[in-house]
Amino acid sequence: MNNSVTKFECLPWFENQLTEMVNRYDVKIFPQSLLITGEQDIGKSIFANDVAKSILCLDRKSHHACGQCQSCLWIGKNSHPDFMNVASEEKSNFIKVDQIRQLIQFAQMTSETGRKVIVIHDAHEMNLNAANALLKTLEEPVNNCYLILVTSYPKKLPITITSRCQRQLLSIVGQKEGIFNWLQRAVSDTNDADIQQILTLSYGRPVLSYQFLSADVLSVMNELERLCSRYLQHKSNLDELSDFIVKNWQFASHLILYWLMSAIKGAQNQENVMVSLVSLSSTALFESYESFVKIIELSSTSVKQEWMVQEWLMKL
Ligand SMILES: [Zn+2]
Repeated sequence: MNNSVTKFECLPWFENQLTEMVNRYDVKIFPQSLLITGEQDIGKSIFANDVAKSILCLDRKSHHACGQCQSCLWIGKNSHPDFMNVASEEKSNFIKVDQIRQLIQFAQMTSETGRKVIVIHDAHEMNLNAANALLKTLEEPVNNCYLILVTSYPKKLPITITSRCQRQLLSIVGQKEGIFNWLQRAVSDTNDADIQQILTLSYGRPVLSYQFLSADVLSVMNELERLCSRYLQHKSNLDELSDFIVKNWQFASHLILYWLMSAIKGAQNQENVMVSLVSLSSTALFESYESFVKIIELSSTSVKQEWMVQEWLMKL
């Protein structure tokens, strides 16, 4: 989970779902195992933590955590005795069995507030041993201990796990205005046209847009466009371009895929890059898209990233 966005609470586009979840808790029908699913980068993890905060708050205002009681203060200091966040350790991309064993121990300890909440972020990253260990907890739930699993890829979880959870699908459909207003507040030093541009190439996903805007990707975008246009027209700057792509990998790879997808869809765009790309045959564009997706999949494990990018560029 990206920590830079956790400072935001109560995402306006999930306000109704938060109310519904807290109401369920109040009338004692909140599931002991909940599986939150939905598209990537729309704020599912923040939502899960908001639900946890509201459930644990000792002086809740309507369905929002008060931010001031002992429970809220503990959460603010990351030291709540009844709240646990589980996520893959940085760079491992796996939730390990030891983490699930700690979770089981935590669930069985006496609680301070009379209830416990555990959130597993990117639950599909549990390895097989971890998933098997968790299964026992799901089969024999501890009273007043609520487990919330969050994932964009529920099909990657064993069916033995998903079948024991109640599902909540989150969506941002119909929430464009609320998302735009939230971004305006979150990145107040960015103008509306730039926010809209980043939102468009993030496919409207608020958390991804926020991450891009706070990383100041606009200058990266302009430079990448300049270098790509030059390369597509003259093929003279291969080293400079591949070096730039690799150095700005997270955003650059996203933007290249976006450009390729837009070209495949036949986008009518005046940008130089797009003019050059749409002149390629649709077969060439598809092949280029597919091989670039493969580079992205391999990029976390390969040391040959720059070499792969160069090879890909040479085929354009
Ligand atoms: Zn509180």
